[in-house]
Formats: sequence, C-alpha cells, structure tokens
Amino acid sequence: MIRVGINGYGTIGKRVADAVRQQPDMEVVGVAKTRPNFEASGAVEKGFDLYAAVEERKPLFAEAGIDIAGDVEELVEESDIVVDACPSGIGADNAEMYAEYDTPALLQGGEDEDVVDASFNARSNYDTVAGEDLVRVVSCNTTGLSRLVAPLQEEYGIEKVRATLVRRGGDPAQSGRGPINDILPNPVSLPSHHGPDVNTIFPDLAIDTLGLKVPATLMHMHSINVTLEAEPDAAEVRDLLESQSRTFVIPEWLGLDGAGAIKELAQDAGRPRADIWENCIWGESVSMEGSDLYLFQAIHQESDVVPENVDAIRAVLGEADQQESIERTNEAMGLDEGLAPTRTAAEAPADD
Ligand code: NAD
Repeated sequence: MIRVGINGYGTIGKRVADAVRQQPDMEVVGVAKTRPNFEASGAVEKGFDLYAAVEERKPLFAEAGIDIAGDVEELVEESDIVVDACPSGIGADNAEMYAEYDTPALLQGGEDEDVVDASFNARSNYDTVAGEDLVRVVSCNTTGLSRLVAPLQEEYGIEKVRATLVRRGGDPAQSGRGPINDILPNPVSLPSHHGPDVNTIFPDLAIDTLGLKVPATLMHMHSINVTLEAEPDAAEVRDLLESQSRTFVIPEWLGLDGAGAIKELAQDAGRPRADIWENCIWGESVSMEGSDLYLFQAIHQESDVVPENVDAIRAVLGEADQQESIERTNEAMGLDEGLAPTRTAAEAPADD
C-alpha cells in the first residue's frame, strides 16, 4: 500500500484525499490543516487523521473539540509521498520540510515551475517523473489544454495552438473573489501565463493563450483553435477525442447549453460534489476549416486535477505504468462510467 499524506485540505486537498482513499493500492495517512473549520471537522467525520500544520494554532483544535493526531512533520515522516494542496506559494515554502524527511511531494498548479523538478500531466508525460523529489501537477487550465493537445499532436501533428480562456472569477466558496459585475481581460497583455505553462509539459509546442475573467464560479470555458499539420474531417477529430479516457465529447441531444447544465448533469449523475473530472467538449463545436480545428471546452477547475494527482503518485514512485495507472484511477473513482448514458443518433427522438 502506498501511504499518502495530504498537506492542505481545501478545495483540491479534500478531493484528492477522497480519491486516494478509493484506490486499491493507496491509503491516506492523514490530512494537515492550519485551523479548525467545517473542512477540518468534515475530515474527522470521514475518519481521516488530522495533523496540525501550524504548531501555535494547535490549541484552537482542542478548543473546537477536534482531536489532533500529531504535527505535520510527523505526517510527512510517516508518508511515502505527500500531496501538497496548500495555497499558491506555500507549497514552495514547504519544499524544505519534504526534503528534510526525504519524502517526495506533489505540488499544485499555483506553484512556479522553477520550484519543482518536473511538471506532470498523466496523458502527456507520465513517464518523465519517476524518482523525482518534487513534482508539480499542472493547473486546471493547463491540465485541460494538455489533455487536448496530446492526442492531436500524436495523431496529426500541431503547427500552432491559439486558446482564449474565459476563466471563472473564483471557486463557489471564495466569497472575496471577483469580478462581481465585469468582464476583465486578464492579463491584459499577451500571452497569459497558460501558454508558457503548457510548454512545461510540451516544451516545443507553439501556443498562444489569452485570458479573461468573468463573474462565474462554475467552470472555465476555453475557445480553441489548433492549426494541425493534417486536414482530417471534423467527425474524425470528434472520434479521436471521444476515444480519450478523460474527455467527454458532449452529444447534441443531451441539450447541455453551458457550464450550468453540465454541473446539473454531474449532480444528477451522483458525482461527488458534482465534480466533473473530464474535459467537456461540445461535439457540435468540433469544426475543421482546412487544417484549422475549432472547438469549445469547459473545464471544472475544482476537480480535473484530482485524477492527475492520483496518477502522479504512482508515476513518481514508479508503482505502475501509464495505462495501468490511468485505468486503475478511472475505475476506482468511477470516472470510466462516464457522465451521461451513451445513445446513438438512431435511438434519439426525432425532435432532438
Ligand atoms: P484552498 O484555499 O481551497 O485550500 C488550501 C488549504 O490549505 C486551505 O484549507 C488552507 O487553510 C490550507 N493551508 C493554508 N496554509 C497552509 C499550510 N501552511 N499548511 C497546511 N495547510 C495550509 O486552495 P485550493 O483551491 O485547493 O488550491 C490549492 C492549490 O491547488 C493551489 O496551488 C492552486 O493554485 C491549485 N489549484 C487550484 C484549483 C482551483 O480552482 N481551486 C485548480 C487547480 C489547482
């Protein structure tokens, strides 16, 4: 069993903890929190051992009636690997602690690439991180872009990617984030950091990205143009994307007109926290104009990196090869069941 510690139990950390617990070859040693709150008590209710991330704040847990199993250093020492899901920048600060206990660690997308030994996306570069000490699971947007680039690159070759990222202002619980009623070019200057971030996975890829922020919390939306080195027809590209294990090509008959409907579908499907681990690509948007591919995809920022963290654990520790790990992760999380029932066009009602 791979013993996994989770340091930072917020949006990403709590999801990764649940996903790790579902894996047949992994166990959660415990989770570290800085203070008692609803997430700390939720962790205890789920039976996770809770470790104090900040020594001086330990008395706060006792005051709230929450038992602590130890300090974060003990968690790090007892773990074969730590998933650090602390806010951006804190992971870099924690790197020294992981090195001190000789425990490999996964940092998240908010950390700078120069802090880590390597960046990771399961579909694109699984084999490159074995034995590394500090690996960064790239951000939600970079994960979404990498999952799209990898099969297109392999099948057709890519001349250039141009992506406009319409980003949610904050996660649902981030009441202090915005904009509240505005549409922001963000950053105003080009490129946004996403293109260079994708280059940490695909160093030679030509990619330009533009970013905006909008008053939404549900998902990010990507408007994509990829100039391919071939001229497949749109149906062929759609089939290719459908064949990938973490892309959901939305059939027209489902009537999903936006991120809200996708979230509703995830809720109806009984997904935990209404999470959507897959890239959601609108099938009708997949279009070819000569060698130019166009499409829209929605990315659930809170959860698409979760299966990637699980795979990164096995990849870093050399515990499984790429296909084995992805299949094991997908099966254990229920990702391979898909988000929606499949139905052929012939079965669909005439008025679809
Ligand atoms: P979050 O704020 O929801 O959770 C972070 C948790 O870490 C909080 O519970 C916080 O109290 C705790 N924490 C703070 N300091 C700590 C410390 N010193 N030790 C232990 N715990 C500490 O943040 P998040 O959204 O989960 O983001 C975590 C990382 O994941 C960031 O690098 C972020 O960029 C990345 N990420 C976030 C998203 C997203 O959309 N939320 C998507 C992909 C990647």
